[in-house]
Amino acid sequence: MAAVGTDTLVDWISGFRDAVTEKREWLTELDSAIGDADHGANMARGMSAVGEKLAAGTPATVDELLKTVGMTLVSSVGGASGPLYGTFFLRMGMTAGAVTELDAAGLASALRAGLEGIVARGKAEAGDKTMFDAMAPAVDALDAAIADGADLSTAARRAADAAAAGRDATEPLVARKGRASYLGERSAGHLDPGAASTAILFDTLATAISG
Ligand code: ADP
Ligand code: MG
Ligand code: MG
Repeated sequence: MAAVGTDTLVDWISGFRDAVTEKREWLTELDSAIGDADHGANMARGMSAVGEKLAAGTPATVDELLKTVGMTLVSSVGGASGPLYGTFFLRMGMTAGAVTELDAAGLASALRAGLEGIVARGKAEAGDKTMFDAMAPAVDALDAAIADGADLSTAARRAADAAAAGRDATEPLVARKGRASYLGERSAGHLDPGAASTAILFDTLATAISG
């Protein structure tokens, strides 16, 4: 695949919805250790609202599609993850623009803008034990793979692998952002729930792209 069209993006979004719904209990279990036990419910509720919105008709352009996803997440998820993922998709859409497909460079810059939106909103830095710790390595890996000349599906799979490694690396960290930071040292020894859902986000992207 040389470019990602709106149909592939819709596959990604529905794959992400299905995966967070399937892994809802695990995500909530992770959040019960260091948060308030609602991350699985938040993600499943938000993505199911997105699915309903898209079932009414798929927007014709990448920016409209991603804007719909972002706005729906912001309005349907009360927790921190709603505005953060919502901003991610909104910024991705703004950067992509009114196009019907993204080439590798376009996808990479849209994802980079999404990551920057999360940082603008939540001020997370590397090692704070948040979704940033899965997403930043994923976006870096995508850029590196594209610079290496990898095709889009290989690049997306490398990004997914980097997100999973970033998720795993949150386990020993002490949280410095979000609810988990209230626990201080006691937050160490658990995976960050948002990093876990971000690894799912990149895994489903790679799956949608490889078809
Ligand atoms: P809440 O904490 O409001 O209940 P969720 O449980 O749905 O919301 O989401 C928690 C996740 O949000 C955390 O695991 C973390 O990855 C992410 N998170 C929280 N605060 C921030 C932040 N300031 N920046 C980036 N990610 C954050
Ligand atoms: Mg929570
Ligand atoms: Mg909550």
